Amino acid sequence: MQVFNLSLFLLEAVVYFTVMTAFLHFRRQLGLGVFLAALGVMHFMETYLAAVFYIELPFGTVSPGSSVFFAGKLMMILLLYLKEDAATVRQPIYGLFLGNLLTVGIAQILQSHEVVALPAGRSVDMGFLNEMGWLMVWGTALLYIDAIGIILLYERLGRLLRGHLVLRFALSGAVVLTFDQVGFYSALSILFDAPASVFLGGWWAKLLAVAIYSLLFAAYLKIEQIPRLTKSTREISDIFNDLTFRERYQALLARSGVDALTGLFDRSRLETDAPLLIRNCLDRGRGVSLVIVDADRFKEVNDRFGHLKGDEVLKEVAARLQAVLRPGDHLSRFGGEEFVLLLPSTGHDGALTFAERLRVEIRRAIVRPDGQHVTVSLGVATAPEDGLTLDALLGCADERLYRAKNDGRDNVHGRFGRLAPSGTGI
Ligand code: GH3
Ligand code: MG
Ligand code: MG
Repeated sequence: MQVFNLSLFLLEAVVYFTVMTAFLHFRRQLGLGVFLAALGVMHFMETYLAAVFYIELPFGTVSPGSSVFFAGKLMMILLLYLKEDAATVRQPIYGLFLGNLLTVGIAQILQSHEVVALPAGRSVDMGFLNEMGWLMVWGTALLYIDAIGIILLYERLGRLLRGHLVLRFALSGAVVLTFDQVGFYSALSILFDAPASVFLGGWWAKLLAVAIYSLLFAAYLKIEQIPRLTKSTREISDIFNDLTFRERYQALLARSGVDALTGLFDRSRLETDAPLLIRNCLDRGRGVSLVIVDADRFKEVNDRFGHLKGDEVLKEVAARLQAVLRPGDHLSRFGGEEFVLLLPSTGHDGALTFAERLRVEIRRAIVRPDGQHVTVSLGVATAPEDGLTLDALLGCADERLYRAKNDGRDNVHGRFGRLAPSGTGI
């Protein structure tokens, strides 16, 4: 029987994760509302099950509500954060919490009704509705802490385990759900006199659920890249401020800035992210370099092959730049056919070498319809020597870019003038 229960338990986890991930994956087509509403509905069922529905598993007495569905909801919140951002994920976190407070408030009003007796002895269990309400308030108060905790922990682990997305997903889930189990069990034992076996069983069940979700997450990563690895370069306190509405809404909107044509960050995003990134490097006594990349004679591409072809070439340039990027680098489309790269912990020599690699790669990879190679010119500036702010670095790099243009284009200019070409290989 226990083995049968266990297989049903696994089945529930797989169905939940798969369907919810599909809603999230197709959010552009369906609208994010489908995912969010489903999350809310599952949340109600989860609370009901956690109050009254328990099964025997080989490792103890367990409610699928507080393991499969609660753990699932938390992992979904983390997944939503990975695919969107803190400003989006805080909406369901607050929505669930406030919705539960509303439930408790309305249950108080409902209790004052004179209710009509129903046939077959069916009657409303107001006491239970009330308990449910409070359990939900407690559950979502914990969820609020859990959800913020799991995101911050995931980001913090990013510093140690950069790139190990699945491991970070699993570890942050396991730690936060352990914390949650202590909190949730306290409520269950006060409200429903839950025995100690419920604590241990529930804990194992949550860990098992996290293990299953992490495997499914690993499978999902095979078909879908989680974007914005640069996310981890943001300060933890900054993410916390976003999650808790401490940031001005307009500032948040600006921060979500992604350029529509290339999918890179846009200029407003650069302006939001750069000061922090530069300060971080300088505080640690490291240099940080800025590279401006400008397509050569791009007007000619438009004039000869049309604007649409021009757009296509711009997308290719963006894609090549992105492909050469290292984790932690920050790439944005500054405007028209100009791109800006911020290279943390990179001194001037390193940045020149990197810029040269970009130049060679673009020249090699992108060809116009008439067979000519598309080329770019690059200007490089490095903090602290060339300036300490984004504006100072941009100004300096732009001046060097101008020199590169005057120097025949398709080259890199830095502090000491033109960099000797490494050979184009063409
Ligand atoms: P150079 O930089 O080598 O001096 O010459 P350029 O022709 O690239 O210089 P300029 O900055 O004068 O022109 C940039 C051109 O880029 C002008 C504009 O037609 C084109 N451009 C800017 N944004 C876009 C865009 O989004 N799509 C397309 N197709 N073209 C764009
Ligand atoms: Mg230009
Ligand atoms: Mg240009």
